[in-house]
Amino acid sequence: MKIMSVNAGSSSLKFQLLEMPQEVVLTEGVVESIGSGEVGRYTIKIQGQKFVKEMVIPTHAEAVEMVLNDLVERKIIHSLDEIEGVGHRIVHGGNKFTESVEITPEVKEEIRKVIPLAPLHNPAHLIGIEAFEKALPNVFQIVVFDTAFHQTMEEDAFMYAVPYEWYEKHQVRKYGFHGTSHQYVAHRCSELMKKDLKDIKMVTLHIGNGASLAAIKNGKCVDTSMGLGPLAGIPMGTRSGTIDPTIIEYIANVEKKSLKEIMTDLNKHSGYLGVSGVSHDSRNLEEAINKDHNKRAKLALDLQAKSIADYIGSYYVYMQGIDAIVFTAGIGENSSAFRERVLNRIRVLGVEYDENKNQERGKEIKISTDNSKIQVFVIPTNEELAIARDVVALKKKANK
Ligand code: ADP
Repeated sequence: MKIMSVNAGSSSLKFQLLEMPQEVVLTEGVVESIGSGEVGRYTIKIQGQKFVKEMVIPTHAEAVEMVLNDLVERKIIHSLDEIEGVGHRIVHGGNKFTESVEITPEVKEEIRKVIPLAPLHNPAHLIGIEAFEKALPNVFQIVVFDTAFHQTMEEDAFMYAVPYEWYEKHQVRKYGFHGTSHQYVAHRCSELMKKDLKDIKMVTLHIGNGASLAAIKNGKCVDTSMGLGPLAGIPMGTRSGTIDPTIIEYIANVEKKSLKEIMTDLNKHSGYLGVSGVSHDSRNLEEAINKDHNKRAKLALDLQAKSIADYIGSYYVYMQGIDAIVFTAGIGENSSAFRERVLNRIRVLGVEYDENKNQERGKEIKISTDNSKIQVFVIPTNEELAIARDVVALKKKANK
């Protein structure tokens, strides 16, 4: 059966069409600059070949219609009836959703209620859902939440030591993100280790432009580095990660900046980009170090590596041990230099890795040696597949 995995952003729409349960990607693509008033771009990849169209795309509804018609025109499907399910990625599910669910008016209302917690993402997701509901009115559709996997955290991990009314009145707590990815690689790691996930204490590192860690024990997420929003935790491509909140008041005073401007600085002008002044992309920082011995580029990477090592140390104590560490996402999967920087800082935990195996890129591999006290894996993430699997599972459960 053909299942679509969808990720609607504020001005973009990413999709993958999969043949399930065979788990074969039939095609994937992205529509960019929707609603910008400028010329947008639609890219579709078929059997490794890319096709690009440029045109003004006023709304997500037009984007969805264009993609679906194109799938038929290119004969990837004969008719829209072949699509038997759609799964939508949702960034914020608040504390209501612990797993993926079929879309109902009530579910949409809950997603709408937590818009204040994810003001950029959730409105776009709702627009995406409604565009697909209009285009495929009789098709089974579900939502998969980035926050769901982390809902198993205990209070001592998800609460902040702030006035309790902030939690009661405004749901101020840690939620965590990238849950679909953390969950996917954790399960894959337990398969590779031939051990039940319940019997593995694991730390998963999802390190891309956005980056977070998750601590997993007894088969459940027990802690994660992102918080109320995705700015918290370790330094990222353009985000600061967790900082002393005093800095915000101080910069407001000395730079005469508004709260909005400072939040933009912390979200868009910090992390790799802010510290190095070179780029948000780890490849450019590596190049600046290798070619020009750029000190700020090195500092940007070191700040992140130290922060990651600190989190791993704290999770080691919180879980009373770690059996496995998994690297995933753009940087975690591809950058051997990044993995080296992190692993060298946690040798004290008994980590040993094979330098040759660590050179491998973008494939599933165990890079720790047999002597290592912690097994270390690189496991490419696949959020689209995880979403499609949930569509199939929920469809079966709902008998639809
Ligand atoms: P996101 O989904 O958060 O946008 P990704 O997981 O796709 O991010 O990761 C993107 C980042 O991965 C890039 O900014 C770059 O720093 C890094 N990256 C991608 N490919 C490579 C590579 N071959 N070597 C090193 N880093 C890479």
